[in-house]
Amino acid sequence: MKRLYMSVPHMGPNEERYVHDAFASNWLSTVGPNLDAFEAAFTARVGLPCVALGSGTAAIHLALRLMGVGPGDEVICPTLTFIASVNPALWLGARPVFLDSDRESWNLDPTLLADFLKRRAAVNRVPKVLEVVHLYGQSADMDPILEVCARYGVAVLEDAAEAVGTLYKGRPCGTLGELGAYSFNGNKIITTTGGGMLVAHDPARVAKARFWSQQARDPGVAYEHTEMGYNYRLSNVLAGIGRGQLEVLDARVARRREIAFRYRDAFADLGGLTLMPQASYGLHTNWLSVFTVDEAQLGLSRDAVLDVLAAENIEARPVWKPMHLQPVFAGVECVGGSVAEDLFRRGVCLPSSTNMSADDQGRVIAAVRAAALRARPRGAVATLQEGA
Ligand SMILES: *Cc1c(COP(=O)(O)O)cnc(C)c1O
Repeated sequence: MKRLYMSVPHMGPNEERYVHDAFASNWLSTVGPNLDAFEAAFTARVGLPCVALGSGTAAIHLALRLMGVGPGDEVICPTLTFIASVNPALWLGARPVFLDSDRESWNLDPTLLADFLKRRAAVNRVPKVLEVVHLYGQSADMDPILEVCARYGVAVLEDAAEAVGTLYKGRPCGTLGELGAYSFNGNKIITTTGGGMLVAHDPARVAKARFWSQQARDPGVAYEHTEMGYNYRLSNVLAGIGRGQLEVLDARVARRREIAFRYRDAFADLGGLTLMPQASYGLHTNWLSVFTVDEAQLGLSRDAVLDVLAAENIEARPVWKPMHLQPVFAGVECVGGSVAEDLFRRGVCLPSSTNMSADDQGRVIAAVRAAALRARPRGAVATLQEGA
């Protein structure tokens, strides 16, 4: 049986041509026409100036530094996220504070945030920055989050690594806070094999990030540096892939949603397998098709679902393990956490690649259905059909 992966790259018709252009013109380093065109196309899409970088993590790192985050500062972050949201804060000497998710979006809980900031304001210890994450292609509820952050003077960075193409009330995620970071890692909805993008409302901040991303080399031919920099720029070759991928982004979003909704419909009669909520305020790309397992209803635990799929050579994974459960963050403050823990314990990410065939997805559906039917009493099975 062919191995079925969770999320793999899916090239469109033009990526290879743009890469070939880079070879033909010998623009094979960190300057060139693909970079200019990729950034121009991204800006046309989201409406903000941007700089293309080697990873989404690099974009978060530069964003936090632009916000002045340094030793002793606190950065609020949802506990339910991938660790790349948090590591850059550590590199700058800052301290994370974790916050739980709400059940409606699986993202940062605005009510909990408001309570937390109120308590901290009372003791004059308001964190410097909030890093909000849009998980699995779903926007956090940004209006109340931005409102309460504005009230207490907390700057907002959006980790939109998983939210390329996601909308909040019609506006692109990543453009709602002061700064936004996107990822084009190989498993994301579009990819440059590895890459990221930083956007900001203030063009001077984008210019500064661009400068830092190229070793902060001062203008002129002499290698003179007055600031600390990084080697974070995307290459012109990979920007060619990004150009082609942006052209097919809308098609990829439509296909990810189609995949998620096919699973939802195929599991509906089983009960006990629930698609991640689709908040009404936004466009959820369903970058990954994520379900929660109700063991009593389904007859299978979350881990049993993972085992059944593994036995069929199908890759599936739990939801992100919350940051407050990570050994590396032992002792870090977490406000709430039970929602994230529950989603981690019961959540499963299913194969969601836009280039998988209908038959491939049928394999996943058939494996889960067969196991669920085997697991329940004989009488109950009569009314349910096996297969997709
Ligand atoms: C993928 C991801 C990142 C990091 O992006 P890279 O391009 O892999 O560095 C950051 N945050 C979240 C939530 C992610 O899923």
